[in-house]
Amino acid sequence: AKQSGRGVLRFYDEHMSLELNDAYLLEKELVVALDQRQFVLHYQPIYDASANQLVQFEALIRWNHPDKGNVPPIDFIPIAEESHLICLIGEYVIDESLKLIASLTEQDIDIVPISINVSGRHLMASGFIEYMEDKLKFYGINGRFVKVEVTEGVFLHDTELCADVMRRLKHLGIEISVDDFGTGYSSLYYLKSLPIDTLKIDKSFVKECHDLAEGHTICESIIRLAQGLALEVIAEGVETNEQAETLIEWGCNKHQGYYYCHPVDEEKAVSILKELVEP
Ligand code: C2E
Ligand code: CA
Ligand code: CA
Ligand code: CA
Repeated sequence: AKQSGRGVLRFYDEHMSLELNDAYLLEKELVVALDQRQFVLHYQPIYDASANQLVQFEALIRWNHPDKGNVPPIDFIPIAEESHLICLIGEYVIDESLKLIASLTEQDIDIVPISINVSGRHLMASGFIEYMEDKLKFYGINGRFVKVEVTEGVFLHDTELCADVMRRLKHLGIEISVDDFGTGYSSLYYLKSLPIDTLKIDKSFVKECHDLAEGHTICESIIRLAQGLALEVIAEGVETNEQAETLIEWGCNKHQGYYYCHPVDEEKAVSILKELVEP
């Protein structure tokens, strides 16, 4: 019944039809949301904990829904990923992030790179690189101020195309991070065949890094792996001082998490950047 299309499913399985129907409605709302620019980006600082220094921001999307209020990405990104909508949302995020970088540069504010989450579907879609390239040119931005975060899933499909897109990103000066490292299904082979710069340790491992649980071993192993392969490593979801200290002990100094700072709106992100130069 799966291949028989929406209408037939609706007829056979009430529960599933409800889900599909919800997804369908949500898709329609997402189109309106894009059109009315209801999405906003929040930015979470990533610090070098040993140098006490801001090193980058991660852009995180939020949906200001006219009735439902603030809708978190978990409630709409997975649905958007089922269709071309994720590409339109991705382009929106690229445009907004680059616009911010351009406006900061114009105001002579010192900037750090902004890291953008790119869905595998969007990364592999035709026109992705061209869009990125056009926007960099349009805003007059050096690619080193942009980073791209992808999850391992993307490496499973069409490795050749994936490698090609990644090389073209690197050619633009854009560095590539593997998000949620260790939670996907792919092998480690890609680490030596793809131009990856950074591993981001998933917060589920970081959560346990101070305990004598599996997370402890996994965290430490990922850090060793990154060191051995000369990759950067960032710990996400750092919530406590104990976690921060354990990670530093192991040689992982780049931290992101509530312990340091929650994601903040654009205005606050700008004021964080301005504070950097003040005495
Ligand atoms: P992610 O890329 O792994 O982003 C990290 C998530 O962890 C963010 O959730 C962030 O707010 C949250 N976080 C940060 N510090 C802590 C902490 O100390 N503890 C805990 N428990 N959580 C922390 P958020 O903003 O709700 O985003 C969820 C996911 O939605 C992201 O996970 C990413 O997969 C996706 N997402 C967000 N923005 C975008 C986007 O612009 N494009 C795409 N394709 N996906 C996005
Ligand atoms: Ca991310
Ligand atoms: Ca993650
Ligand atoms: Ca994630």
